[in-house]
Amino acid sequence: MNKVIPISIWSGGMINCFLIKGTKKHILVDTGVPNSEKKILKQLKKHNVDKNEIGLIIITHSHIDHFGSAYKLKQILKAPILAHQLDVESYITGKADISTMKLNKPQWWIFKQIIKNQKTEPFEPEILIEGDTEYNLKEWGVNGKVIHTPGHTPGSLSIVLENEEVIIMDMMASGILLGGIIFHKRVKHPPFHDNLTELKKSFDKILLEKGKRYYLGHGGPLDRAQVIKYYDNHLKKADNTA
Ligand SMILES: [Zn+2]
Ligand SMILES: [Zn+2]
Repeated sequence: MNKVIPISIWSGGMINCFLIKGTKKHILVDTGVPNSEKKILKQLKKHNVDKNEIGLIIITHSHIDHFGSAYKLKQILKAPILAHQLDVESYITGKADISTMKLNKPQWWIFKQIIKNQKTEPFEPEILIEGDTEYNLKEWGVNGKVIHTPGHTPGSLSIVLENEEVIIMDMMASGILLGGIIFHKRVKHPPFHDNLTELKKSFDKILLEKGKRYYLGHGGPLDRAQVIKYYDNHLKKADNTA
């Protein structure tokens, strides 16, 4: 049975957050762009999840389309936020760190221009993961763990569940435009990655874990063969000029 439920911020999978169902509490993974809280609460309700049943909010990385509503949701859900220490600067300033946004294609500069000027309420994560420390989710009745998978940003996190569902968020994308709308199975680069060499190592780490369904921040979900296809086509000879 699937434990991961996609929560759509923009229709067609253009921007996704996720709900992980636990036996004790549930976990919200990412919070969308600023002012997404109502949309998220509405979808939680649709899945029969009361707001006091969320025990933890995980922020996967420091791009504003993922942590934009973190502060507000933390107030509403009264749940602690877990994030990685290497991305904390953006969280405590409420702004994405554009120095880590290296364009994968020059024509995608427009994304950087849009994000550069965006700001949201800052927040301080209650639980900070340091280095490659893994974080077990059993406290919430979820059989799985949070692992450090840098490359898209220095402090990017992924979630690996024992039922072989894996949330890799922006390590890759699929579909057209921001990954949504159509061609969900067509794998592609997100607009930027910080470091392709690091990203490749993170894929090596992810692929060592069992996985059959991979959830993305933009597009997806994909099966293992499609993840390997992205790795082969975009990262095999990875360096930052690829
Ligand atoms: Zn991102
Ligand atoms: Zn994103």
